[in-house]
Amino acid sequence: MKPAPFDLTTARDAAEAAALTGDGSPEARIVAGGQSLGPMLNLRLARPAHLVDISRAADLRAVTDEGDRLLYGAAVTHAEIEDGAVPDATGGWLREIAGRIAYRAVRNRGTLGGSLVHADPAADWVVTLTALGAEAVVADPAGAVRVEPLATFIAGPFATTLRRGEILTGVRIAKRGPQARWGYWKFTRKVGEFAKASAAVLIDDRTGEVRLVAGAIERPPILLPDAGAVLSGTLSAEEALRRALPDRPARTLALHAVALREAIDIAAGRPHRGAA
Ligand SMILES: Cc1cc2nc3c(=O)[nH]c(=O)nc-3n(C[C@H](O)[C@H](O)[C@H](O)COP(=O)(O)OP(=O)(O)OC[C@H]3O[C@@H](n4cnc5c(N)ncnc54)[C@H](O)[C@@H]3O)c2cc1C
Repeated sequence: MKPAPFDLTTARDAAEAAALTGDGSPEARIVAGGQSLGPMLNLRLARPAHLVDISRAADLRAVTDEGDRLLYGAAVTHAEIEDGAVPDATGGWLREIAGRIAYRAVRNRGTLGGSLVHADPAADWVVTLTALGAEAVVADPAGAVRVEPLATFIAGPFATTLRRGEILTGVRIAKRGPQARWGYWKFTRKVGEFAKASAAVLIDDRTGEVRLVAGAIERPPILLPDAGAVLSGTLSAEEALRRALPDRPARTLALHAVALREAIDIAAGRPHRGAA
């Protein structure tokens, strides 16, 4: 199927993009890499009358050093992170994650911001950046900026807290030093597929942060309580997941428990068994 007709404007910067989409019209929509929106247009699940292309907006394509954090413009592509064309706040983890998203053709165009706003519960950035404690930076058409932890910005499956007229301008990620360890494991039936189950782990001995995140659970990634108990082995991955998701039958959580154990093993530096 072909998309319904639309106008296309290329925004030069974030302010112009916000002004063009923030005129109160529900008909206007941002397009970044088009890798998720494109299929929705083709299937006519989305019918915006006006698309605002941000893929060439200079400020949304930049990475800014803020001292102890890096601010990634929303239109930075997966491929730029994979290739090391932009700095990696984590000393390598972001590159590794980017390189395992879909196929290179998708990564060439798909963006960090597009992935987060699309908010597919199984998407790699949605899960891993929640574990890293990243923040969404959001602007409204009047130029007001708000910052929100990704853990709450992703409000539901395919839903965020973005209000009409707001755009995601960037993602703020804390720099991690040598005392930070992390692991990510996802199960896919074949390369390039979305995860059927995933888990991400951050252990930062410098800041004391410990985060265990379960992803691909048809809802926003869940930060597991009792992370310390799971890491020390006094609480099993299965039981932690059962407590966090009591409405799910245990058998549907089995693969997620595998993902969690594998991600913990990777974070601990132990050899892991066949990550996807
Ligand atoms: C075949 C295929 C396989 C894939 N596999 C994976 C996978 O394994 N893992 C994975 O994580 N992802 C996967 N993806 C998704 C991919 O990562 C996309 O790049 C991503 O979901 C969307 O990014 P985009 O830049 O293309 O966004 P777009 O498609 O341009 O936009 C997506 C949505 O976000 C909105 N939007 C975009 N940017 C902004 C912004 N800055 N502010 C406000 N709204 C905005 C758009 O209006 C739209 O609603 C796959 C995609 C395809 C086509």
